[in-house]
This record gives sequence, structure tokens and C-alpha cells, in this order.
Amino acid sequence: MPTSIFSKIIAGQIPCFMVYEDDLVFSFLDINPLSRGHTLVIPKEPAITLDALSDESAAAIGRVLPKISRAVLNATGATAFNLLQNNGTIAHQAVMHVHFHIIPRYPSGLVRKGEQGRLSSGTGLSIDWTPGTLESSLGPELARSIAAAVR
Ligand code: 5GP
Repeated sequence: MPTSIFSKIIAGQIPCFMVYEDDLVFSFLDINPLSRGHTLVIPKEPAITLDALSDESAAAIGRVLPKISRAVLNATGATAFNLLQNNGTIAHQAVMHVHFHIIPRYPSGLVRKGEQGRLSSGTGLSIDWTPGTLESSLGPELARSIAAAVR
């Protein structure tokens, strides 16, 4: 399994601002935050994408995501946040180690730019969401094939 920069952060070979650690999960501040409090949550298992993650690590991540999200909200005063998880280069994944972004969302106008140097930035995640329409003729077959592939 190739070693990413996140494996080096977990091993303490590269510094970070850690916010949480247990046997299977590690969490720290993003070095280039989209907003104040932008936090990454990663499994210690060096899986590249979510679909390759073990059930054990997936369960461990799922258990702590709400808890770390609550902590980010409490510490920042934000009342909204996005959870982002990119898989694959064309899906905007830059670091090849599974990671979840917790990105506080602040109302426009409440950003305190520069207040905390590099830890302070924008209002949060911008979403370019252009929905299509699920074709009723294609839905049943698509749902059936996905359902059949779930194991
Ligand atoms: P991706 O686009 O892969 O979902 O996001 C990777 C994230 O990791 C980016 O938001 C980037 O700022 C963050 N990141 C990359 N290298 C480092 C690092 O060395 N330290 C920290 N704390 N964050 C990093």
C-alpha cells in the first residue's frame, strides 16, 4: 500500500494540529481551510478510497464523525457545516488516503479574514449542484443492479 502524507501525519513524522485520536481514527485541522475550523477525519488504515475501507475502520469513522462535528460546531460557533468525502482524482481527491472533511459554513459577512492567520479563511464549501432528472424508465433497472451489487 503506498504511503501518503496522511500516513506520515498519523506516524508523527509530519506535524499537524491534532483534535482527536483513537485506535483506528485520527483527526486534525486542514492546512488550507475553506473556513475556520475545517477539520479532517481519517482512518489509520491506509485505504485510498472509501469503497476500499474495511468494515471495522468504516464503523470507527462513523462512530466519531458526529462527535467531532459537534466539537467543531461548539468550538467555532458555526451552526452549519458540510461533510465532504472525495474519491478519485476526477472527484477532486488530492491526498490518496481516505478522509472526511468537516467544513463549517458561516453566513456571508461573518468571516473574520486574517484574524487567525492561515487558520482563518472563507465562509465554507461552495457547491455547484446542477441536478438532472431520474428517468422513470431507467430507475428500476439501475436500482436493481446497484442493489444486487451490495454485499
Ligand atoms: P482532497 O481534495 O484530497 O479531498 O483534500 C485533501 C485535503 O488535505 C486538502 O483540503 C488539503 O488542504 C489537506 N492537506 C494536504 N496536505 C496536508 C498536510 O500536510 N497537512 C494538513 N493538515 N492538511 C493537508
